[in-house]
Amino acid sequence: MSDDCIFCAIVDGEIPSRTVYEDEETLAFLDANPLAPGHVLVIPKTHHERLNDLPEALSGAVLDALYQLVSPVETAIEADGTTVAFNNGAAAGQEVPHVHGHIIPRFEGDGGGPIHAITGSRPELSDEELDSIAEDIAGRA
Ligand code: 5GP
Ligand code: ZN
Repeated sequence: MSDDCIFCAIVDGEIPSRTVYEDEETLAFLDANPLAPGHVLVIPKTHHERLNDLPEALSGAVLDALYQLVSPVETAIEADGTTVAFNNGAAAGQEVPHVHGHIIPRFEGDGGGPIHAITGSRPELSDEELDSIAEDIAGRA
């Protein structure tokens, strides 16, 4: 629990939420300012700022909860699909510093973009640069 965290306050019941799923480790509720009807947030019940900070065991629980929810959300909202994503860190647009996965219902022709639309431009990378980046990441994973 972090003292001034909105999502910890939701877990503690101090701030109300429209809960749609709960298990021992995770909670899911409707986003208060939804991008589409049925926009759901999935959080671990304990406070961790970014995905990188989650204990490994909890990462599975969060993915499980997302998995449990995508079909119910799509069916309830009669959506054609969902965008499932994390804003991971302030630079990526994360405003609430408590890990949360978004499930955003999508509809054919809804005018929204794919995840590929989130950066301003694409970098031009040579084969050598790509090889070096892949090697660097693989060496740390
Ligand atoms: P972020 O930009 O950090 O990925 O997204 C935070 C999300 O939390 C936003 O979509 C925002 O609408 C939602 N949110 C912020 N405060 C509250 C709240 O008190 N209750 C609920 N249900 N959602 C919230
Ligand atoms: Zn928190």
